[in-house]
Amino acid sequence: MIEEISKNYYRCVIPLPQNPLKYLNSYMIKGKDKNLIIDTGFNRKESREAFFNHLETLRIDPANSEVIITHLHADHSGLVGELYRLGARIFFSALEGEIVKMETTERCWKSYYVLMRQYGFQESEDFFENNPGKAYRSLGDFEFVVLRENDIVSIDDYHFQVITVPGHTPEMINLYEPEQRLYIAADHVLNIITPHISFRGFQFPVFLKQYLNSLKKIYNYNISLMLPAHRTLIFDHRKRIDELFKHHEVRLQEIERILSENQTKMTVQEVAAQMRWRIDAKKWSDYPDAQKWFAATEAMAHLDYLANLNRIKMDIIDGVFYFSSLNNNLKK
Ligand SMILES: [Zn+2]
Repeated sequence: MIEEISKNYYRCVIPLPQNPLKYLNSYMIKGKDKNLIIDTGFNRKESREAFFNHLETLRIDPANSEVIITHLHADHSGLVGELYRLGARIFFSALEGEIVKMETTERCWKSYYVLMRQYGFQESEDFFENNPGKAYRSLGDFEFVVLRENDIVSIDDYHFQVITVPGHTPEMINLYEPEQRLYIAADHVLNIITPHISFRGFQFPVFLKQYLNSLKKIYNYNISLMLPAHRTLIFDHRKRIDELFKHHEVRLQEIERILSENQTKMTVQEVAAQMRWRIDAKKWSDYPDAQKWFAATEAMAHLDYLANLNRIKMDIIDGVFYFSSLNNNLKK
């Protein structure tokens, strides 16, 4: 499906099969002398076909296009290597472009096993094989141009201001067009579902704290239409941001309750298994590996935030993270 949002400015729907996100909204602007493409979808057959069909329908030639990838996840960056080889100019934030390049290697994914053990997983090293981030990622090296806060990307009458919104990922990019009051939100604000917040190690700032700050950062922008990367368009961004603030506070309280009811030190995986998730499987052991991982890393983002505020206690024992309530009489 292609929908014209504004003159020569299109929302192109790319399917993400068997994925709870359902589809990606790629935005394409057809200019007089060049084109602008924002996000690509997964590097998998169904998504790739839809993406290239949209290019053909709109008569957009990759070789005459600038491609902005809002953030590192494979559902946004999956075709970046291929588009680079077809002659497109690629744009990323400095940090995220480098991470996408690193994640093309096996070595990088091996390093994520360390996090897996820290969360208390005992699974074998093929744990990430079916993770869409690995299975459908971009392959092959590429060069990119760095986008920074307040840079302006112009195409015909559109002038997009670059806004960095760390939280969902370390240096995600949003694009604001002040004249039209259109705001490309990537995965920062989504309708229906809540953006996933993860943990990548203590070398990064506390992502949930950054995320909440990045929501505050854009709250007062004058926006007539927010264009998210998944699901439906957002007409009242402040209402949705208020709901997201509330969602995370409820999640934080849920975790505090789990820790205080269990009266034991808990691993990230144990906490995640007791949290409520919108997934068909009823038992934690029935969750597919990829869903276990998403749940655990989201739980860790909240645990990291709570420990940082001294609302809970964290211990590291034999390389495994343990969390406990401040009011516990610990049994173990
Ligand atoms: Zn996404």
